[in-house]
Amino acid sequence: MDIGKMYINGEWILAKEQGTREIINPANGEVIKVVTEATEKDVEEAVMSARRAFDSGLWSQLKPEVRATFLLKIAEEIEKSKEELAQLETINNGKPLGEALSDVETAADAFRYYAGLTRTAFGETFDSSLDSMVVKQAVGVCALIVPWNFPLQMAAWKLAPCLAAGNVAVFKPAETTPLTAIKLFEIFEKVQLPKGVCNLVLGSGQAIGDLMTSHRGVNKISFTGGTETGKKVMTNALQTMKKVTLELGGKSPIVVFPDTDLEKTAEYIMFASFLGAGQICSAGSRLIVHESISAELTSILIKHTKKIVVGNGLDNSVQMGPIASIQHMNKVLGMVEKAREDGAILLTGGHRITKAPLDKGSFIEPTIFMVEDNDIEIVQEEVFGPVLVIQTFREEEEAVQLANSTKYGLAGAVFTKDFSRAIRMSKNICSGTVWINKYHSVNNQLPWGGFNQSGFGRDLGKDAFNEYLETKVIQMNLSNDALGFYDSFI
Ligand code: NAP
Repeated sequence: MDIGKMYINGEWILAKEQGTREIINPANGEVIKVVTEATEKDVEEAVMSARRAFDSGLWSQLKPEVRATFLLKIAEEIEKSKEELAQLETINNGKPLGEALSDVETAADAFRYYAGLTRTAFGETFDSSLDSMVVKQAVGVCALIVPWNFPLQMAAWKLAPCLAAGNVAVFKPAETTPLTAIKLFEIFEKVQLPKGVCNLVLGSGQAIGDLMTSHRGVNKISFTGGTETGKKVMTNALQTMKKVTLELGGKSPIVVFPDTDLEKTAEYIMFASFLGAGQICSAGSRLIVHESISAELTSILIKHTKKIVVGNGLDNSVQMGPIASIQHMNKVLGMVEKAREDGAILLTGGHRITKAPLDKGSFIEPTIFMVEDNDIEIVQEEVFGPVLVIQTFREEEEAVQLANSTKYGLAGAVFTKDFSRAIRMSKNICSGTVWINKYHSVNNQLPWGGFNQSGFGRDLGKDAFNEYLETKVIQMNLSNDALGFYDSFI
């Protein structure tokens, strides 16, 4: 088996210390690839390669339309490799093929969208008497770090705006899901992206994350991952005052009022909670339902949840894949066990699936709890697995309080036919996105990010593009007059 390599300064290379990592298919436990495993020496080389590329201006000084052409070619190549990329994502992350295909399309569209934005890094000029202008310019070397739940899509969300704005990158996928990133860098090589502009390092966050986020040669960090890791990243970045974007965890509420169609709403709730086996930052993991419809909605949810087809994502009939690794499955099962100890009532699921052939993978039943105590772990902390908790409310005000009662603020949803109430609730829920009568829709044009401990800064939209730009004021002296400040001394 060929060892998966890193891409540094336009060359495919093995880690200097020759470490390797086995990449596992979470649906059956099989080794699908062995990849090289970086140490800090490799990060040093990658940052230096990016630094040289940036300082030479070979990318930042290209005309925007030329940079745009590269991005458009990348989008085209992603689409040409759509099936291969989706297959790689499914065998590496476990998500059903349909979900993986949708991620690939989103990734291609991100490169296309930001190709358009390359031409919009507008500065400002002022009244002619000021002889001044404001220009926008690339920030520099960006360390981009992503998790394992949307390996390709997250790579595109970071790399496309970063490159569009004229920056260069050192990119790190999660240690367990590097396969689509390697393929993406093959595409960068194919379209002849200049050497050193995009560098790929493969390795664990524990081993190389600190250097990536504290290196003096790095100007900006864009990080997506857990809140606790985000805090470490921020602490490291502080020492050299890097610009930072943090896209962190969530515990998103779904508030349901009595005036909804319960069957339709139940389907959205299941989609919100169990898409990606719940391993989605914005997963709707807390259902806050009006007490008058709680029993009926709960019984519809239990009935349909029991029918979800769980299995290998390559099988077209499968609706929910495995948990992305054995380690993460054990963490989720641990939180389920703790929820029971804390008094949450298990309504369905709650176990690892041990029936052959799923026993070889890391599969968990979609799980629903009813809870009364808002302070227990299963309500307050992100599980990042297929686990929904149900709570009830009487008054709208109480629903808002419950919705806003965790440390997070990534997303939320409200289901009601009452337009005024929907808008009122949307304004009152503290999160970066609120969906009304829908869930999980994301568009590359719409900024994505969180309030509170879900992070700050934004991926996507013009906001993300702007985060990869510095603002510079240039003031000019267009006269030959002496300054005159020291006249009295002369
Ligand atoms: P994680 O453990 O925080 O890891 C995320 C990335 O950070 C991985 O590439 C990881 O590398 C790396 N990392 C680990 N320790 C690091 C350190 N000390 N310094 C720098 N990088 C380090 O999170 P995860 O378990 O992979 O992902 C799940 C989390 O991501 C969830 O909390 C989820 O909500 C969040 N997420 C947020 C969004 C959003 O848009 N807000 C989107 C997707 C996911 P290794 O894996 O190689 O160790």
